[in-house]
Amino acid sequence: MPDMLSIIIPLYNEQDNVEPLYAKLDAVLRDMGHVYEIICINDGSSDDTRERIDALAERDKRLRVVHLRRNFGQTPAMMAGIDLARGDILIPMDGDLQNDPADIPKLLAKLDEGFDVVSGWRKDRKDNPIKRNLPSRMANRLISFISGVHLHDYGCSLKAYRRDIIKGVKLYGEMHRFIPIHAAWQGARVTEVGVTHHPRIHGESKYGMERTIKVILDLMTVKFLDKYASKPMYLFGGFGLASLAVSGFFFLFMLYCKFFLDKSFIATPLPLGVVMFMLIGIMAIFMGLIAEILMRTYHESQDKPTYIVDCTRNCKEEDRSCAE
Ligand code: UDP
Ligand code: MG
Repeated sequence: MPDMLSIIIPLYNEQDNVEPLYAKLDAVLRDMGHVYEIICINDGSSDDTRERIDALAERDKRLRVVHLRRNFGQTPAMMAGIDLARGDILIPMDGDLQNDPADIPKLLAKLDEGFDVVSGWRKDRKDNPIKRNLPSRMANRLISFISGVHLHDYGCSLKAYRRDIIKGVKLYGEMHRFIPIHAAWQGARVTEVGVTHHPRIHGESKYGMERTIKVILDLMTVKFLDKYASKPMYLFGGFGLASLAVSGFFFLFMLYCKFFLDKSFIATPLPLGVVMFMLIGIMAIFMGLIAEILMRTYHESQDKPTYIVDCTRNCKEEDRSCAE
């Protein structure tokens, strides 16, 4: 029995993309000989996306639809799809036709080689070069360096996961791009494969340069949590001790100068000021990280969903169905 596929597509104001995307997907998937489902998550669209996917779902029961209560963002929308997916292989992709369904067989071929995660690599990315491609290239380098999991394009939504790698993960912020990293850290075999990228024809991109900044801040959290989540004291305590040692050293140095060389630094607060400001800066960064841990704990302990479902179509019976 070939593996069942779940294609997962977050949609936010993609009314003109829904039908052509469905047609392309249908053409590719029909030829592949896999059982499949397409899960469309309407992330609180304010255009006609809702009506259009509902109409498609009416005709095709393999198209499962989740309408979220409001706009939660691409990552929570993707989560909603992952939570619902029944496939052995989960394949998230964008709903704006920038990813090409024709690449799906390529991803699956890599999984067949024995990989658990295959990440798309937009070798020739068709987005704004200054606002998106350049910052994202820099972010990718940084992520690769910090995480030690070397991919070229973490941000490409088109990926393929074996089910057990991704089921049960909790995603928030821009975290969807870090799933392969988490997976690799857990021992999963991760690889990438070149995919086609098309310019966006209908609708608008929901992101600008600020996204890269968010990604980098998320990266710091991910790395930090990986290393110190269970023992933050090793880091904070180490820092505190080092800082005490530095201040002790300067105190002794001043005492020595005063009593043996008769030279006083008391009248020059400037060097101390510089040191103080540096320490305050570093402290501020660590405080930010503590706040991130608290946030993560908050997310995980409350078991609070990162999205809220309004209604669904073609989903499990116990799911709430859309009013006719
Ligand atoms: N998206 C979403 N919720 C949002 C923003 C985006 O579901 O709040 C979806 C969007 O409809 C698209 C995918 O996420 O299918 C990628 O978004 P976009 O094309 O705007 O990102 P870009 O390609 O510019 O990185
Ligand atoms: Mg796009």
